[in-house]
Amino acid sequence: MQCPSCQHTESRVLESRSTEAGQSIRRRRECLNCKHRFTTYERIEFVPIVVIKRNGRRESFDRSKVLRGLTRACEKTGIDIQQLESWVDEIEAQLHHEAGREVKSDRIGELVLQHLCRENQEVAYVRFASVYRQFTSIEDFIETLQQLQLERNADWYPENQDNLDEACSTAITSP
Ligand SMILES: [Zn+2]
Repeated sequence: MQCPSCQHTESRVLESRSTEAGQSIRRRRECLNCKHRFTTYERIEFVPIVVIKRNGRRESFDRSKVLRGLTRACEKTGIDIQQLESWVDEIEAQLHHEAGREVKSDRIGELVLQHLCRENQEVAYVRFASVYRQFTSIEDFIETLQQLQLERNADWYPENQDNLDEACSTAITSP
């Protein structure tokens, strides 16, 4: 793995750990030449997913786009990058599980919102929704906040996860 600082190709691994979803391994490395420290991720290569965009165009699924969207939505919420990476892992795994080869881009946005809802990231949820659903008015925000009420009303207990999932998908899919 090439050092991002000096391009030296040898590094040593300081720490390896599995991300939460168990979908990837995060390694902290140190360049043998300049001692610069950087992080790499190792993950299973899935058959690529084709994303069908709203305009009908197709492109291959790009997890870095999802990560960018999440990062922007979660700015200043105290969520660290490892957490965001693990959410992207979970979203990607879910896409593979349910979509097979092709997925509509809207579905990706819904999964992200479901995730934020489940993680009680209300601020990030509204931010992400405002971009993803292209909010144009204050009513859009109010409507989304009202939908989030549904999630709050679903008593959150681990054994109630199914109810919460249902409330989350209702909050997301209701017009
Ligand atoms: Zn280096």
